[in-house]
Amino acid sequence: MSKHPTDPARNPGRPSSPTRATAGRTPAPPVSALEKPIQYLRGVGPHRAQILSALGITTVGDLLEYFPFRHEDQGRPQTIDTLQLDTPATVIAAVESVSVRGMFRNQTVNARVRDATGEMLVTWFNAPYLRDKLERGQILRLYGTVGVNRDIAQMINPRVQWLDPDEDPAQWDHPRLVPVYSATGQINSQQIARLVETALAEALPAVGETLPESIRTRHGFIGRADAIRAMHQPRTLEEIGEARRRLAYEELFLMQLAIGLQRRWTATHARAPALPVTPKIDEHIRRRFPFPLTGAQNKVIEQITADLASTRPMTRLLQGDVGSGKTVVALYAALVAVANKHQCAILAPTEVLAAQHFAGIEKYLAGSRVRRCLLTGKTSQAERKQMLAAIEAGNMDLIVGTQALLEQRVQFGRLGVVIVDEQHKFGVSQRAALRGKPQSSKGRRTGPGGKAPAADPLLVPHYLVMTATPIPRTLSMTVFGDLDVSVIKELPPGRQPIITRLVRPKDEHAAWTEVRRRIAGGEQAYIVYPLVEESDALDLKAATLEVTHVAQDLLPGARVGLLHGRMKNAEKQAVMREFATGRLDVLVSTTVIEVGVDVPNATVMVIEHAERYGLSALHQLRGRVGRGTKPSICFLFSDSQGEVAQRRLDVLCKTTDGFRIAEEDLKIRGPGELLGTRQHGWPEFRLANLLEDADLLMQARDDAAEIIREDPHLVQKYTALRAELRRKFRDKVAFIDVG
Ligand code: ADP
Ligand code: MG
Repeated sequence: MSKHPTDPARNPGRPSSPTRATAGRTPAPPVSALEKPIQYLRGVGPHRAQILSALGITTVGDLLEYFPFRHEDQGRPQTIDTLQLDTPATVIAAVESVSVRGMFRNQTVNARVRDATGEMLVTWFNAPYLRDKLERGQILRLYGTVGVNRDIAQMINPRVQWLDPDEDPAQWDHPRLVPVYSATGQINSQQIARLVETALAEALPAVGETLPESIRTRHGFIGRADAIRAMHQPRTLEEIGEARRRLAYEELFLMQLAIGLQRRWTATHARAPALPVTPKIDEHIRRRFPFPLTGAQNKVIEQITADLASTRPMTRLLQGDVGSGKTVVALYAALVAVANKHQCAILAPTEVLAAQHFAGIEKYLAGSRVRRCLLTGKTSQAERKQMLAAIEAGNMDLIVGTQALLEQRVQFGRLGVVIVDEQHKFGVSQRAALRGKPQSSKGRRTGPGGKAPAADPLLVPHYLVMTATPIPRTLSMTVFGDLDVSVIKELPPGRQPIITRLVRPKDEHAAWTEVRRRIAGGEQAYIVYPLVEESDALDLKAATLEVTHVAQDLLPGARVGLLHGRMKNAEKQAVMREFATGRLDVLVSTTVIEVGVDVPNATVMVIEHAERYGLSALHQLRGRVGRGTKPSICFLFSDSQGEVAQRRLDVLCKTTDGFRIAEEDLKIRGPGELLGTRQHGWPEFRLANLLEDADLLMQARDDAAEIIREDPHLVQKYTALRAELRRKFRDKVAFIDVG
């Protein structure tokens, strides 16, 4: 087996199909039509290139893969005398006259058009660019909803296509499926469609096949170039369906292939320390908890201890609803490492959360000999230096921290277990860095992307990811596909259900009355106020004003504190402490990041503008209440009239089953939103829909496994796949280059 399968000298079988080489040592192949910078496509230029780059389009190939999100079925053209009021229709007619009213951007362009059967008015608002493009005598294809203006049929803001007057009109008489692209304020769908047309003419022949022949025939897939053409210029609805299925499969298949290779890489190149649990260790650990563990916790601990006892590195995802008791499970795993004279790192996405974890763990570890520390970006230089030295020397057992632990190249003496809370807030690259975290005492310097000697497996820690976002199976298979999954379904005993109410503006008064009643009774409240952007000064001002409003008008006499993303860490912690110790009655929070907050006496939550959040985010937020013994309530304030918003929020009122909520979220918002894919590092699917394409996903997984069995490094039969994976995932899948 070659150690450097990407080295061109050793790997002559590179595909001739267009590839984008990213490895520094590989000489750049000739620029193909697909790699041509979009700026040089006819009709683009530097200004538009910039606009397109905001849509993720930098090359002609990118544009070809910028698929329409739907197709508008414009039907066959109709004559003007057959038009029906309030119905969408296509009309082919000649321009008789054009007139313009208004100034500048507010210009209204009016045209009178005529066909053999009658006359129609056409009005475009805010479309000054049309003024110079419309001329008497032109033949237009217009698609819009039919209205009426002084007894004459009228279309307002119809879609327009200029037809060639020299063409045979019979040519025009066919149904039309028009691609609709997601657009921006600076470029509209029609303009994108025209550019795509040019790109197809120029570059479609350069599109190579990525799927192996065997897979194409097995599933009856059309070719890649055909599928791309059909997405943009379909002749029939069936054609769109076929093209979509093939391209969606390809996305899923490549993802499954990448995941399968990663899994294989870990299995063959990585070893973890064996951390067995003896009955004595088990008893010692359990003694730390003031309650018996629940059945669900015990089951998960069984799975984890089985993993830890093996030298095969654990990569396990622990899912459990907020408050299900994941921290206890995490601490159990940590203490197994410590009992085996190894270190454990527990990482949280924010400093507040890390501090909370540390405080929570302190509670259980009071009086124990476990050496532990909290290390975040805000730890003072002197303390940090001391801690780092202790960590490297192996004199620190349990390290709680933030990403800072990863980014600042902390050298662990004997890292046995890494536990990451709220994994979905982390990027994949960090995940990879973690997994390949070298052990300083062994003098290793590289992770999976480096040149690990194959004969001497890389020593990596066991790896446990905790998430409170219940992830539907299809999603965990794809995004977290290389992880085993454990689920805690049962909540600890004595938990109170949370009542959730959707509150319309007219009912807000009653909600505030309830909040006041509870505060008067000694209970505490959260008020959550959304910030669109953490950095948005305007929003911050609004939130600050809101605090004043809450304190003075809505909850007079209550002690109100504010927590927002711009506060210094120490300030945040001070406010949290005040709230946790009951010196504040109300916490107004402008941020949703503090998901680990645990104040049992807080029993009421008000979420302003609830429609602005994802369902899973709301579900996590409301999990801040209902943590004690008193019944809790969550008010979702929303003035949104939208039906979708209403339906979504209703789901939340009806169920507390996080999995159902996540599925609903997935349906409505897609996986990117649910998991924050952009931070996550995986490209989002363009066409695949994880709910509707579940069967495609299963096929893709099986096919990928077969390919890996046949050609584990994709260097013999499947070099085209290898190139495509590299092109698609670029630096995200370093394991491809490790072989
Ligand atoms: P999560 O991290 O999953 O949101 P936590 O681990 O923070 O949940 O647990 C939530 C609360 O439940 C904590 O206050 C914890 O002390 C309590 N708890 C956890 N496990 C049990 C148990 N087995 N019995 C009773 N209470 C428990
Ligand atoms: Mg927790």
